[in-house]
Amino acid sequence: MATPIYQPPASGSTLAPDDRSCANCGSRLVRRYCADCGQPAPGPADYSIRAHAAEFVDQLASVDGKIGRTLWALVARPGALTVDHLAGRRARYLRPLQLFLVVNVLLFVIAPRVPMFTYSLRSYLTDAPPSPVVVASLVRRSSAATDMSAYTAAFDGRVESQRKSLIILFAPALALLFRALFARRTKCAGVPHRYGEHLVFALHLLAFIWLAVTGWGALGTLSSLAPTRTLNVLTIVLLVALFAATPIYLLRALARVYALTRIQSLAVLAALITTFVGLVVAYRTLLFFATYYTLT
Ligand SMILES: [Zn+2]
Repeated sequence: MATPIYQPPASGSTLAPDDRSCANCGSRLVRRYCADCGQPAPGPADYSIRAHAAEFVDQLASVDGKIGRTLWALVARPGALTVDHLAGRRARYLRPLQLFLVVNVLLFVIAPRVPMFTYSLRSYLTDAPPSPVVVASLVRRSSAATDMSAYTAAFDGRVESQRKSLIILFAPALALLFRALFARRTKCAGVPHRYGEHLVFALHLLAFIWLAVTGWGALGTLSSLAPTRTLNVLTIVLLVALFAATPIYLLRALARVYALTRIQSLAVLAALITTFVGLVVAYRTLLFFATYYTLT
C-alpha cells in the first residue's frame, strides 16, 4: 500500500489543532506558509533574539524601501501608480491610502509655515469663506462668557486637529467628479470605471497635489529666509519651475490613466481645477463650523 502524502498528526500531538493548518486562519499550509493569509507556521526559533533582530531589519527595509519607491514613482511617472494598481502590480508600492497618509504627515509638518494653510481664528476674522461678518458675530456671542485670548487659543488648537481629519474628504469628492465625467464612457481594461477605481486615482492625484503644495510652501519659506540674494533668486526660480510643472504633471497623469488625447486632458484638467477650488472653499467653511460647534 502506498503511503499517503498528507498524514494527519496522531491524536495527542502538541501542535494543535493540526500541524498542517494555519494557526491564524485555519487554512491549509503550503510548505511553511498559509496559502490564504500568508502567515508562516510558528516555530520554536520565533522568539530568539536573532529572529527579533531579523524581523526588525526586515520591517524597516520593506517600509522604507516602499515609501521611497512609491514616492519616486508618484513624482517621476505621472499616473503610473494608478495604471500599475489597476493592472494588479501592487505589492511593490504603498497602498493608495497609505501613500496619502504618508504625504499628509509630510504636509502637516511643513504646512503650518505656509501662509495659505494657516487656518486660525484670526484668518477667519479677516478672510472669507465663510463671511468674516458671520464669523465675528458668532464668535462674539460664544466668547462673551470667557475672555477672547483664551477662546482664540482653544479655537486654533481645535481647528488644527480638525483639519487633519477633514482633509480625507477631498478623495471621495474627486472620485465622484471622475465617476461623473467618465460615466458614459464604455468600459475598457486598465482604465478606471467603477467608483472604487476612480478613488485609487483620486488618492494618488491628491498625494501628488499635497506634495507639490508642500514643495511650494517650503520653497516660499526658504526664499524669505535665504541669507544671500543669489540663494533667494535660486529658490524663487525653483518655486516658479515647480509651480509650472504641476499642471503639466496633472495633464500627463490624466492622459495616461484615462487614455485621453491632449484636448480631452485639458478639458478634464479645467474641470478638476474648478472642482478643486470649490472643494477648498467648502473645506475651509466646513472646518470653521466643525470647529465652532464642537468647541465647548
Ligand atoms: Zn492563514
